[in-house]
Amino acid sequence: MSTAAQRMQVLVVGAGYAGATAAVRLAGRAAGRVDVTVVNPRPGFVNRLRLHHVAVGQRVPAPTLSTMLGTGVRFVEGQVTDLGLDTGRAVVAGPGGPRTVPFDRLVLATGSTTEVPVPGGEHAHAVGDIGAARRLRQALDGVGAGSDVAVVGGGFTGLETVAELAESRPDLRVRLVTTGEVGAWFTPHGAEHVRRTLGTLGVEAVGGRRVTAVEPDRVLLDDGDALPAALTVWCGGFSAPSLAWNAGLGVDERGAVLTDTRLRALTHHHVLAVGDAGHAPAPGGGRYSMSCQYAFPSAAHAADLLVAEALGTPDARPLDLGFTARVVSLGRRHAVLQPTDRRDTARGRAVTGRTALATKWFQTRGTVAAIGVERRFPGAVRWPHAAATRPVPAGSAA
Ligand SMILES: Cc1cc2nc3c(=O)[nH]c(=O)nc-3n(C[C@H](O)[C@H](O)[C@H](O)COP(=O)(O)OP(=O)(O)OC[C@H]3O[C@@H](n4cnc5c(N)ncnc54)[C@H](O)[C@@H]3O)c2cc1C
Repeated sequence: MSTAAQRMQVLVVGAGYAGATAAVRLAGRAAGRVDVTVVNPRPGFVNRLRLHHVAVGQRVPAPTLSTMLGTGVRFVEGQVTDLGLDTGRAVVAGPGGPRTVPFDRLVLATGSTTEVPVPGGEHAHAVGDIGAARRLRQALDGVGAGSDVAVVGGGFTGLETVAELAESRPDLRVRLVTTGEVGAWFTPHGAEHVRRTLGTLGVEAVGGRRVTAVEPDRVLLDDGDALPAALTVWCGGFSAPSLAWNAGLGVDERGAVLTDTRLRALTHHHVLAVGDAGHAPAPGGGRYSMSCQYAFPSAAHAADLLVAEALGTPDARPLDLGFTARVVSLGRRHAVLQPTDRRDTARGRAVTGRTALATKWFQTRGTVAAIGVERRFPGAVRWPHAAATRPVPAGSAA
């Protein structure tokens, strides 16, 4: 049995899907050669995939993190406020006051939150983190029947949020404002289903317009028009917290740590960044999308590299990740399951109806269950590899 001084001290910052997965996999596979500490601001797990459900008042379970992580991981409740990358010490502000946590290796899994990049952002609500979702829920309670609500952003979060809002509050006039066409990411059949379903729910689609400012009772558009909005929900994009930048790590324009394909920070090799907090080069250029489909594999891969290092058998394999499909819910009765190629571009005929709904249900619950499974059976999280997934069609950009 190795002593604490001989064991590798790994600090995981953040216990969302990525941080929790990395921690339990590492603790489970490293056979007593690693001490794993996880720091997270709350003792309960936030199932971020369901924050739009929180916003409309649905009850979403928050499993206790210490139970989820198990006895092989030390859980510290608090927020990492400062990272000494050269000293190997992190400052944690927690309920018992500030403390310091030492580390040899750092796994940054701090996720992302909503950033509103236009004037008046303070008037906008969001669903990007639990605090924002709860505030939106309260604000919705104060919005009277017949009021106008604008949801800004036509990505997956915008689509899921606008549908949930319209379904739960049919007394409101709900608009979706997007820079592109609504549902443009999907193939034609999927896009048609998205537009039809939103129409059925009473959502007015305002496509091809950019919101340039948010005011307390309206949003301003790039063509000089304005839309009334007693409440604006910004779903226009996520950014990583500033902790990494403040610590001196190299980050991209959204604050995510720039890593190599082995998920090690380009500027500090003893730091690995996973999930939304990391920007690893994707095969087609750019980064992998901020998604669970990246959070779980990147976390599991980072854990495996650290296990190998702790066991004295260094492993330099790059992350090998392919994509197969995306599933988007449109309220409680509709969903679209869109097949993709290995680089995550929509291809082929979308699936709707019960199969899509069941897949979405499984995704939103299964992601939480997967962490418990990984804890009991370390190594259980698997993901599609690029070679085993649908090829990228000839002629697409390399
Ligand atoms: C409403 C909504 C719907 C979504 N739907 C989908 C979907 O259908 N499919 C999909 O693939 N993705 C979806 N996403 C995106 C997905 O939720 C994220 O990509 C995913 O949560 C990333 O996981 P993560 O572990 O990297 O980050 P997170 O889940 O955000 O976890 C990060 C954790 O780090 C903690 N943290 C942050 N800073 C600190 C600090 N300084 N110290 C300590 N802890 C810290 C946070 O509090 C949090 O607990 C959705 C997101 C939202 C908001």
